[in-house]
Amino acid sequence: MTSGLHRSALEGVDDAAALLGLPDWLRGVLRQPERTTAVQVPYRAGDGEVRVVSGWRVAHSTARGPAKGGTRFHPEVTGEEVAGLATLMSLKTAVMDLPLGGGKGGVAVDPKRLSAAEQESLTRGYTRAIAHAIGVERDVPAPDVGTSASHMDWMADEHARVTGVHEPGVVTGKSLAAHGSLGRDTATAAGCRCVTRASARRLGLPADARVIVQGFGNAGAHLARMLAAEGMRVVAVSDSGGGITDPAGLDVAAVEATKARHGSVTAHPGVARVTHEELLALPCDVLVPAALGGAVDADGAAALQASLVVEAANGPCTGAADAVLAERGITVVPDVLASGGGVTVSCFEWQQNRARERWSAEQVGRLLEQRMERALEGLWHAAEQRGLPLRPAATVLAVERVAQAVEARELAPAAVLAS
Ligand code: NAD
Repeated sequence: MTSGLHRSALEGVDDAAALLGLPDWLRGVLRQPERTTAVQVPYRAGDGEVRVVSGWRVAHSTARGPAKGGTRFHPEVTGEEVAGLATLMSLKTAVMDLPLGGGKGGVAVDPKRLSAAEQESLTRGYTRAIAHAIGVERDVPAPDVGTSASHMDWMADEHARVTGVHEPGVVTGKSLAAHGSLGRDTATAAGCRCVTRASARRLGLPADARVIVQGFGNAGAHLARMLAAEGMRVVAVSDSGGGITDPAGLDVAAVEATKARHGSVTAHPGVARVTHEELLALPCDVLVPAALGGAVDADGAAALQASLVVEAANGPCTGAADAVLAERGITVVPDVLASGGGVTVSCFEWQQNRARERWSAEQVGRLLEQRMERALEGLWHAAEQRGLPLRPAATVLAVERVAQAVEARELAPAAVLAS
């Protein structure tokens, strides 16, 4: 059975392949993962018993470089979902023009119900099971929902034990002590800040443009602080408890302190509280959805006063919302690029590990900014050239890049023989 996520990833690939006039064989290659590894993972539970759960690692494409993508520990994850996410990673690394392909991993387990020792046993078991499928030049996992730097440190260590070779670049998102990169924690927010600033400038928005940030977690809170430091006015933020607004601009650092102390931004004193629906209808220039997938629906899109939406979250706008935004002529910078800062700094970590280097935070920040701005320029250019909104233009650009790489590799021997 094909999951909704996998189906929509394949629809995007199909539409782009049709527009590009790709031959059937190439479309077929892009629709199918190159390699799917399905495993049973035994781990030692706290009661001394051995339990077994299902896991997957999917390398969708290595045409542009080793597969790259996170590792999801979630009770409802399936092989199909992992395949869809791996396909999306191929598109993301191609839009970002990184020397990487796309992959993803998953284990059907609820990590919140496991102790740290159980999680370590599970992560090491999973790594042993997929050890032959991953590698620094083959497929490079990273953290995703339910996994963290600790899981990546265990994976790198277990891989070294299995192969006898300590190669830290086999996974990214590791702790600093275990060859992680500076700037990884704030990478998604820092990348999104560059994209927001450059897009706002392009649309002629004022330097103190009014911004709403929906979601105040790792991505949203850092981003709100960074945008305020740039001179933008963060007029509203929200978390799962609701939203707060101050038309003059919130003191983001103070809101962060409130959230740390009381668990929600809604406890912040001296500002007006709003519901999730009211938040989206507030006067503003820019909306940054940084909460969960599907948090902006068609009604929210219809009420929106922004002229720019920058998708920090993965899939924050529903399909219906996207149609409303397109009809209203609101510019949407899609997730595949706007949230690409995380995988870009993952790529930097992999490059540092391979070169046995450690880059400074300034160097990481500077290179990230360059990458994000170049990727955004490339996307605007592709959209203008093809007369498409940014989202479909991003898929077409990505499919074209992956297809060119596949074609170059598949057809190279024939071309050599013919010459
Ligand atoms: P997180 O769990 O740290 O934060 C999510 C935030 O959203 C929390 O503040 C939560 O309270 C809030 N939230 C939940 N439902 C909401 C709603 N209906 N309205 C408003 N707020 C709501 O997650 P994160 O790491 O910040 O990730 C956020 C999004 O960014 C996700 O879609 C994630 O896939 C994407 N993303 C994150 C990274 C990263 O490196 N952290 C990288 C790429 C993409």
